[in-house]
Amino acid sequence: MIVLNDVSKTFDTPSGPLQAIVSASLEIEKSDIYGIIGFSGAGKSTLLRTINLLEKPDKGTVLLEGDDLTQLPRQQLLKKRMKTAMVFQHFNLLTNRTVFNNVSLPLEISGYPKKQRKERILECLEIVDLLDKVNEYPTKLSGGQKQRVAIARALANNPKVLLCDEPTSAVDPQTKESILYYLKQINEKLGITIVIVTHEMNVVKSICHKVAVMEKGTIVEKFHMNDKSYKPLTNISKILLGESN
Ligand code: ATP
Ligand code: MG
Repeated sequence: MIVLNDVSKTFDTPSGPLQAIVSASLEIEKSDIYGIIGFSGAGKSTLLRTINLLEKPDKGTVLLEGDDLTQLPRQQLLKKRMKTAMVFQHFNLLTNRTVFNNVSLPLEISGYPKKQRKERILECLEIVDLLDKVNEYPTKLSGGQKQRVAIARALANNPKVLLCDEPTSAVDPQTKESILYYLKQINEKLGITIVIVTHEMNVVKSICHKVAVMEKGTIVEKFHMNDKSYKPLTNISKILLGESN
């Protein structure tokens, strides 16, 4: 589904070049819930953004369903990028649009047939149990509800992959559970592949099948959460896998 091969990314900063990603390779299979965990500044968000080429690597290849995004002409890249959708920590809803019109936005941009838009918007809101908030404005919603609108919006154009950057970091623990529940449902019922960047162990423990641990731009280990024979290398994986490994 997604293959990153030897991807590197350096940013030019006032204090000189900063290597945000160093030779990262990753394979994400269809219907995985793949966690990318690490401390602040480890390069998690940058790595996530290379998956849909919002961040263009200096080196390496990014395959999405077999196509190398780094080699695609712009129009084809934009089309292919539609197979992915993003969910952010701070929801990024438009406050001057209702819930309905927030979910409508990606459909307007993609040119989704106008006559079928309403049905699609309601379908997406139903997935996150928010049909009762259709005409509400985001300021009237709780953090969890806002994130569920953002998830509905991300689903609008029928993506194959959801790229989630700290989707539960701005909400309380109970709300976190609820958002993770919906992401799990979306993965199980719709078969959507989910990549989730987080610094929270409990997020990985509760929904991820596979994990990559990042440190200073490097993927230092990768493993399956249910691999009983895996010997953890870092403190993060030791905590994630508990004493059993
Ligand atoms: P956090 O958990 O705080 O969100 P992160 O693991 O997501 O951190 P990134 O945001 O990927 O880390 O950043 C990795 C490194 O790259 C950091 O040192 C950051 O300052 C730097 N960086 C990220 N984006 C840019 C940019 N556009 N220009 C310059 N430096 C950047
Ligand atoms: Mg980040």
